[in-house]
Amino acid sequence: MPDPYPANAAERDRWILTRRGTRSVVDPAQPYGFFAEEERAASGEVVSVNTVLLTNRECPWRCLMCDLWKHTLTEPVPPGAIPAQIDYALKRLPPARQIKLYNSGSFFDRQAIPVEDHPAIAERVRGSERVIVESHPALIGDDVRRFRDLLSEGAISSRSRRREEAHDGCRLQIADCGLEVALGLETACPEVLERLNKRLTLDQFRRAAEFLQKNEMALRVFVLVRPPFLDEAAALHWACRSIDFAFDCGATVVALIPTRGGNGALDALAQQGEFSPPSLRTVESSLDYGIGQRRGRVFVDLWDIARLATCRHCSTARVTRLRQLNLAQDSPPPVACAECSKVG
Ligand code: SF4
Ligand SMILES: [Zn+2]
Repeated sequence: MPDPYPANAAERDRWILTRRGTRSVVDPAQPYGFFAEEERAASGEVVSVNTVLLTNRECPWRCLMCDLWKHTLTEPVPPGAIPAQIDYALKRLPPARQIKLYNSGSFFDRQAIPVEDHPAIAERVRGSERVIVESHPALIGDDVRRFRDLLSEGAISSRSRRREEAHDGCRLQIADCGLEVALGLETACPEVLERLNKRLTLDQFRRAAEFLQKNEMALRVFVLVRPPFLDEAAALHWACRSIDFAFDCGATVVALIPTRGGNGALDALAQQGEFSPPSLRTVESSLDYGIGQRRGRVFVDLWDIARLATCRHCSTARVTRLRQLNLAQDSPPPVACAECSKVG
């Protein structure tokens, strides 16, 4: 008998947890990943970015679509471990203008990243012109402001300024302290957001975004393309509305994440007909829409995109086009394919 996803929020954690598979073995002395990439900056330049995937205790939330727990620990790391992980990665990475410190949860979760490590972390990354961290919106508060101030004690303060950001020919003056916080909105569809078990409302998200803006920090927003409970047409509709909502909240970047199975819970929903990953066409249309708004940068996460690119005739061209869109923020001509009857 299928065990449907609980309507009652209190029962959802158990439903999600019992469907989990095994966790990877990770080492608190090392980040579980690190890599160098390029990203289009607010100025329009394509800049080097180092990403460090920090190993730490798993996030306390139990979101339905989350698979980040796979690379986490069940216990907090000792003080000093996170700065040591950053050292480990930076020794092996090329120099870069920007750095992302992603921790499979919230940078401002004190059980994940000990707050006493914030000064040592700031010391290691303040040479970067932009430091990007991620957080659940519920944790946006004084710790964020204090971390911003720690970064500002050094090199970033010399760059702290009102800078110009190019958008479709017009130039806006926006605040920039060098700290960018990525918040998961996931979706602006209130019913689906509630069912994701993120314990987040659109109003809470808006308040967290306002706090960042008031304190001169940049906002990056993660949006899921086709979360569970939506068909393909609704998925595109809500990806576009979520992009609109993110920009209304002051986002300078929206990162689109095609929802992927593999965490147990989504696989169970897929069997019940409540979840399918998006088509590549929906991902393309969402990105085209977002970039076309000219309200800020919109990227798509291409990690694992091969799973969605199934047509042997056009998938390489389509993925190449998405990569170009990410970097250029301007739409190259659509890919036509007689084989899968998809144009653009
Ligand atoms: S808040 Fe983020 S890291 Fe935590 S469970 Fe939800 S999606 Fe995963
Ligand atoms: Zn095709």
